[in-house]
Amino acid sequence: MPPRNPFITLIVTGVPGVGKTTVLAKVSEMLSSAGREYMVVNFGDYMLKEAMRNGWVSHRDEMRHLPLRRQLELQEMAARSIREDAEKTLRGKAPLLVDTHAIIKTPTGYWPGLPENVVRELRPDSIVLVEADPEAIYARQVRDSATRRRSDIGGVEGIRSLMEVARQAALSSATLVAASVFIVVNEEGRPEEAAKRIVDLIDMLG
Ligand code: ATP
Ligand code: AMP
Ligand code: MG
Repeated sequence: MPPRNPFITLIVTGVPGVGKTTVLAKVSEMLSSAGREYMVVNFGDYMLKEAMRNGWVSHRDEMRHLPLRRQLELQEMAARSIREDAEKTLRGKAPLLVDTHAIIKTPTGYWPGLPENVVRELRPDSIVLVEADPEAIYARQVRDSATRRRSDIGGVEGIRSLMEVARQAALSSATLVAASVFIVVNEEGRPEEAAKRIVDLIDMLG
């Protein structure tokens, strides 16, 4: 069977604080106002629900500090649940957009968010990589610090290094399932422009 779902599948990645969730909220607004069917899911939400149920964490930014085998368990479960939920929910080519990471910075090293088992479960047509200027991303992380804990990413230099690894990771995962890697710049103050590029991508893939 070819590595594709009936529904158009986009995996949206990018370093913490680049604006994936913000841009995907704009994509949702655009698709809703056009009366289109779609599903946007956050991979971390699926992991967090299970991690909290087990009492392993109390905050989403603690998950990348769990023992790697525990993260692996959560990751595998999330991929399977997302695929099952999308199969139940989506009709025809109506798109699935998964808000996640191609690379996770953990205390025991860079760890793939989309290893072979995960990417084969999700079967993306395209892996979107959201990028922005590292200084702008750092400022976004700081503005968000009341609700998010991203200081372990390591400031502007940490962001710059992670962005390099994130490109390599996105390409490596894409190669496993013959997906494209689509880079979208999330310019300061203009998340709707990035969202528009993602909507255009959905239309081109369909
Ligand atoms: P994480 O991977 O940690 O979940 P994320 O990529 O989902 O991060 P967001 O939570 O969407 O990032 O955005 C981080 C912060 O940056 C938020 O405060 C958001 O409002 C802000 N932000 C997002 N996009 C832009 C933009 N284009 N211009 C200015 N601020 C932005
Ligand atoms: P987010 O809100 O997107 O930053 O997601 C919260 C947390 O979920 C991340 O910091 C990771 O610990 C975890 N997470 C999200 N996507 C993945 C993935 N594909 N693989 C492993 N962990 C993930
Ligand atoms: Mg997010």
